[in-house]
Amino acid sequence: MGCNEETQTKKMRGLKCRECGAYYPLEALHVCEFCFGPLEVDYDYDYLRTIVSRERIESGPPNLWRYIDLLPISGENLVDSGTGFTPLLKAERLGERLGLRNLFIKNDTANPTWSFKDRVVSVAITKAMEFGFDTVSCASTGNLGNSVAAHAARTGLRCFIFIPADLELGKIVGSLVYNPTLVAVRGNYDEVNRLCAEIASTMRWGFVNINLRPYYAEGSKTLGFEVVEQLGWQAPDHIVVPMASGSLLTKVWKALKELHRLGLIDEVHTKVHGAQAEGCSPIVRAFKENAEFVRPVKPNTIAKSLAIGNPADGIYALQAMRESGGVAEAVTDDEVIEGIKLLAETEGIFTETAGGVTIGVLKKLVEQGIIGSDETVVALITGCGLKTQEVLTDRIAQPVLIEPNLRSFQEKFAELAVGKV
Ligand SMILES: *Cc1c(COP(=O)(O)O)cnc(C)c1O
Ligand SMILES: [Zn+2]
Repeated sequence: MGCNEETQTKKMRGLKCRECGAYYPLEALHVCEFCFGPLEVDYDYDYLRTIVSRERIESGPPNLWRYIDLLPISGENLVDSGTGFTPLLKAERLGERLGLRNLFIKNDTANPTWSFKDRVVSVAITKAMEFGFDTVSCASTGNLGNSVAAHAARTGLRCFIFIPADLELGKIVGSLVYNPTLVAVRGNYDEVNRLCAEIASTMRWGFVNINLRPYYAEGSKTLGFEVVEQLGWQAPDHIVVPMASGSLLTKVWKALKELHRLGLIDEVHTKVHGAQAEGCSPIVRAFKENAEFVRPVKPNTIAKSLAIGNPADGIYALQAMRESGGVAEAVTDDEVIEGIKLLAETEGIFTETAGGVTIGVLKKLVEQGIIGSDETVVALITGCGLKTQEVLTDRIAQPVLIEPNLRSFQEKFAELAVGKV
């Protein structure tokens, strides 16, 4: 595996403030002390261009570490949970229903804890170990907690997960099973996040989405890299991305631009579209109002994994959508459920509410003529439906109940045939 130590230390120049450009060393830092802007990993692209090639990536392992040269890791001790290189599926039947001939589903429910968060967490936990943290933590809307707890279990780190107390049972059990300390806060995600920022300043812990955020966020790029590689090193015409903090969308766009900058793909004409649920759509509203800033909202939606009312990367997501020529759109909770069912019935993929948001918005963008029928479209399905089953309870058919004999089945079958059941 092409991960020699010299390459991995020479490729990064430091952390750089997104706002004022101030440089910082590669430590567990996340805000600029001059302007409070967020810090981002800065790479030496001239150096990387002499190292990275399609062949080098293709000869890497079948997981996200095939892109290690473009990730902020300097050591050799990688946390490999089998994350990444998830299927990119041609969606013939869903495409037919929506009027799209080149629709693809990127199925990130195939990750170890069934969401795309395993990508950011693989990178963050690897970095936490490089920094020598013995405890890792996060503020989570559910999926992040599941992934941090699992990766902490695998590496033997101590783990504290903070969540809003009203999360779905699947998300709560999905953390508890790995035996972290799960702290349920009586408040919404934004309150949990604020509390965690305070805790982070008093404990020497690795908070994956606070003091490790510059490293963590880079993990999302691998979703963009994979889409391009799996399309035969072609960037698609459109990508539809669900947004919570807006980080994933920002990093998918960054990934496409990096591949171009490194000479791995020709041009990037991809329009990156952002999707939210109407009950928590501060980024969509800012986009439609042509605003530069995102006004916080109080979330009220079944799409709890996306329910961030004060999105940290909102303004960068706005910039990415505008720069790429994409749009932002929102759907109602009813449309979220229809989206979940449509994807399941046509493609056999059971997504959580966030995926319902993506499919609902995809449908809207086709209806609005923003996406054309022959264009190449990728919808990112970022989480698994088994974690949010309660939203479907009253919205799907009941089982057909029979006695354990042939007659009972035949009676029921006759009723089914005339449409009585
Ligand atoms: C966290 C999450 C997202 C988006 O996260 P960002 O904060 O915007 O990076 C999308 N889908 C699912 C299922 C998630 O858990
Ligand atoms: Zn700054």
